[in-house]
Amino acid sequence: MKKPRKCGAALQVRATHYGSYSVRMILILLVSLLFTGSCSDSPQRPNILFIMADDHAVRAISAYGGSLIETPNIDRIAAEGALFRNAFVTNSICSPSRAVLLTGKFSHLNGVTDNGQVFDGSQPTFPRMLQEAGYETSVIGKWHLKSDPLGFGEWQVLIGQGEYYSPRFSTPRGVVQYDGDYVTDKITDIAIETLQNRDKSKPFMMLYHHKAPHRNWMPRADDLDLAIVEDYPLPADFADTFAGRPAAKEADMLIADMFLSFDMKMQPGEYESETGTGGARGIDAGREQAISAWVSDYARLTSDQKLRWDAFYSAVNAKYQTIKDNPEALSEWKYQRYLHDYHATVKVLDENVGRILDYLDENGLRENTIVVYTSDQGFYLGEHGWYDKRFMYEPSMRTPLLLRYPASVKDGLEVTELVQNIDFAPTLLSFAGVSVPDDMQGLSLLPWLRERPTAVLRDSVYYRYYGTEGGWHRVRPHSGIRTKRYKLISFAGESEHWELYDLQTDTREQKNLYGLAEFAKVQEDLHAKLAILKQHYGDE
Ligand code: CA
Repeated sequence: MKKPRKCGAALQVRATHYGSYSVRMILILLVSLLFTGSCSDSPQRPNILFIMADDHAVRAISAYGGSLIETPNIDRIAAEGALFRNAFVTNSICSPSRAVLLTGKFSHLNGVTDNGQVFDGSQPTFPRMLQEAGYETSVIGKWHLKSDPLGFGEWQVLIGQGEYYSPRFSTPRGVVQYDGDYVTDKITDIAIETLQNRDKSKPFMMLYHHKAPHRNWMPRADDLDLAIVEDYPLPADFADTFAGRPAAKEADMLIADMFLSFDMKMQPGEYESETGTGGARGIDAGREQAISAWVSDYARLTSDQKLRWDAFYSAVNAKYQTIKDNPEALSEWKYQRYLHDYHATVKVLDENVGRILDYLDENGLRENTIVVYTSDQGFYLGEHGWYDKRFMYEPSMRTPLLLRYPASVKDGLEVTELVQNIDFAPTLLSFAGVSVPDDMQGLSLLPWLRERPTAVLRDSVYYRYYGTEGGWHRVRPHSGIRTKRYKLISFAGESEHWELYDLQTDTREQKNLYGLAEFAKVQEDLHAKLAILKQHYGDE
């Protein structure tokens, strides 16, 4: 197959030149100019399959070297393409991350700062730009932006957070429910059917977005016992005491506090009373909401699925009676149960990624289709004793990023540049040869995928989590900067405070170095860089 022309990379020059950024941006400009070329004679524009999971931690993908969970199909994307070692989100929570993906802009500019806001789909998005450039565009699966998708020729999206069983999809033709189906399988069925029925005279861009492995991690009834690992290793910081980190200490996301109902899937009668806060501490109706959510989730299984479900869970949940009065044993039991269920949803997700990769490969679409695998953010799998996300700490700020494009990207490539989810939109537009608007804030990663320039993409990334007063998990608003080695975070709240970490010596971010004399210079430099980043991104 003929290689597509190298077009679009020069569009990186749109990045504004602020402060110390100017020298680096000029370097990027020079690198980019090497790749400049008219796209008008491009023989074949690439198709794009953008796979986004929900809450999929890097540690739960075997391509990243973790042994926690094997993901052979997701790993194929990296083996046959590129793996990004340092990919981060700008705001570690669901809806905001999805708005960043679509717009290439930080939350303060795209208008979605937390899960409660409605996305204004009339603003410029990369799917609409590709549609206007002649792409057949679609979004299948999780959407979670409260407004109907715009800029897509076809859309079938889960309602709100979506359901694991008998899922309902909102479509231009109304709501459709698939009784008895499992969400991860069904999203793939619809995605493959949409690809089969596409207008083959056009390139396609599909957002194929999964619900898995989102809370409350309901495995597929067919293979509940397949994912059993008897003993998941406890992270070294599972019993973290949060010394020097008051915002982390007050957060409500300990595995020890998970709900017996919603999270552990215990049925009424299997426990005396719901004891977990489940992230709802201080929310009046939170516990009742969780119990009723679990009742309605379970009601979505067919009677046959319930038989298999009950046979498995009544056996594993029986152990609760033997450890319920020992807090440490209860906490570790919840951890094992959580990891099992998370693992089981990832296993089905990985299997379905394999299905869609096989579809591409078997239909002559392998060479010229860009396949991206990422998550809307990372997740805690017991680090600090936590589940959930939100914090600027590594497990939730990091997100997986794998990209396969055989026609243009060398297999086995590893990219260590600091990349962020603002880069997705400009990168995909650049690959498609579509102009990147000046006000998009990300950078195209295209030169780093094709030519491996020696220039540095960026020396730091900016992060901001907004929080909701009285909301779930009680994570304070915070913002900060991460370089390759250090991280500086400012936490708002009554006792406003700063945290500073040396990621080279303290990978678990447990030693807050802020205010220590020996780090005074590092601290001063990071403060200065953070001020420049805030100005650069217009978030002052
Ligand atoms: Ca998420």
